[in-house]
Amino acid sequence: MTNNAHPLAGVIGNPISHSRSPRLHRHWLAIYGLPGDYVALRVQEEDLSTVIRTLPKMGFVGANVTIPHKVAVLAIADTISDRAALIGAANTLIFRGDGKIHADNTDGYGFLANLRQNAPGWIADAGPAAVLGAGGAARAVIAALIEAGTTEILLTNRTRPKAEALRQEFGSKVRVIDWVQADNVVEEAATVINTTSLGMTGAPELRVPLDGLHPGQTVTDLVYVPLQTRLLATASAAGCTTVDGLGMLLHQAVPAFERFFGLRPEVTEATRAAVLG
Ligand code: NAP
Repeated sequence: MTNNAHPLAGVIGNPISHSRSPRLHRHWLAIYGLPGDYVALRVQEEDLSTVIRTLPKMGFVGANVTIPHKVAVLAIADTISDRAALIGAANTLIFRGDGKIHADNTDGYGFLANLRQNAPGWIADAGPAAVLGAGGAARAVIAALIEAGTTEILLTNRTRPKAEALRQEFGSKVRVIDWVQADNVVEEAATVINTTSLGMTGAPELRVPLDGLHPGQTVTDLVYVPLQTRLLATASAAGCTTVDGLGMLLHQAVPAFERFFGLRPEVTEATRAAVLG
């Protein structure tokens, strides 16, 4: 039972009520006057495969995937993009006309597009990039930085073995630094990226000393609730160029929206305002 005149897409996660993706995609559908809808789908892990296999039969053309299913969907997809395989997680599923499910990861694209839009002078190989954190988001960020031409990534994480594992996977451009020396990493880097959940509303604060931040650095935080984290506020006061995490969320949705609904949307101030609502 499909209805191609009215394509459906959604975001799969658990919990899902906090997701801003429906607001974002519906905003684009409305401003471009496109038919279709985009819904939030709360799905338990044990139902994931059944739900994903059923959605195309209900008129869904694809879906985004968020916590905690980004890794598990790789085992369900029929084909996986090189990027998603490298990152080890997918955030976008495309339900193809031939019945196959394709998994991709657009987080790295969103990360770079956000930097390029909001720090236009940013150069990938201007110097080392400091990556704080070694979770799923860090994997996408490291893959994107290497693809963009960053030659040295200083990776620091509370749980060092997780950082070591990423070094094994991504190679010698990644140098692991102990979490207790994160302040040195912050001072040395041309680009500083917080990929931990620290600083997010409801999570502990990022306690890394930030005295070494200085003009000429570009600092970005993947956390976007609040928009202005302590890291960004301190960096801004120190004269750094700062980029908040909301832009990454908006930009990672661009390729997905284009594949779902057939038009490449723009990320503008109106997009931000619509999502912040
Ligand atoms: P994850 O896989 O669970 O990784 C969490 C990371 O935070 C790990 O490095 C973890 O260190 C670190 N961490 C958590 N609590 C900590 C603490 N108390 N002290 C020190 N380190 C701590 O999560 P994720 O998927 O990578 O997401 C990370 C953040 O990025 C979240 O806030 C998420 O909302 C955000 N994000 C934003 C976007 C965007 O579009 N802006 C996209 C993706 C993710 P350990 O390894 O030691 O546990």
